[in-house]
Amino acid sequence: MRLDRLLGQHPTWGRQRIRSLLVRGCIQVDNKTVKDGTTDISPFHTITIDGQLFRQGKQPIYLMLHKPEGILSATSDPVHKTVMDLLPDTITDGLHIGGRLDKASTGLLLLTNDGQWSGRLTRPERIKPKVYKVQTGKAIHPDTQKRFAEGIYFPFEDLTTRPVKLEQLSEREARLTLYEGRYHQIKRMFGRFRNPVIGLHRESMGDITLDASLAPGDYRILTPEEVASV
Ligand code: URA
Repeated sequence: MRLDRLLGQHPTWGRQRIRSLLVRGCIQVDNKTVKDGTTDISPFHTITIDGQLFRQGKQPIYLMLHKPEGILSATSDPVHKTVMDLLPDTITDGLHIGGRLDKASTGLLLLTNDGQWSGRLTRPERIKPKVYKVQTGKAIHPDTQKRFAEGIYFPFEDLTTRPVKLEQLSEREARLTLYEGRYHQIKRMFGRFRNPVIGLHRESMGDITLDASLAPGDYRILTPEEVASV
């Protein structure tokens, strides 16, 4: 929200008063004087006026969670357990998921209360490689690698998937690199070969890799470098 509009929420200040405070250099955003009323203010900015606190900025939170199997990637659900149930209540306020996983899938899940950050993470034109390890019910067909690299047509959405890299690890196991996240994408791609996915684990998203020390259900705060990589 623009700084002048935010200050306009004050019960008694009119536009004139706000303009005057700005011009006189009375407004500080995160301890820096700001005179431009059009400055974009996020919920994380602290605003002071002549050194007096006007609004305390929220604490931004960035987490990685090792999602276990059978837990929903959702903020709430009337029936099923969600990933929020794995986190302490003190940090779940305003938290949302940056890139869901299916209920049966495991691995790296990123959570934050910073909508701009999660927007950068999931905006289609910015998506960085997402790496998954997949186990299939049947042997991976020799044509799979080529067909995935060409893209698979999904008639329901009328689109062809972006090229997916497949590195075969064993007869029924592969590592996939995707640059998008369509609904049940990997299961549907293997579905073309009538090969059911029986295990799906996300290893990384861009430069953020699931911490090997995290057991399923555990989480940790992202490092500043991980946050800045998005
Ligand atoms: N593709 C799927 O089918 N499921 C996931 O959870 C992620 C990608």
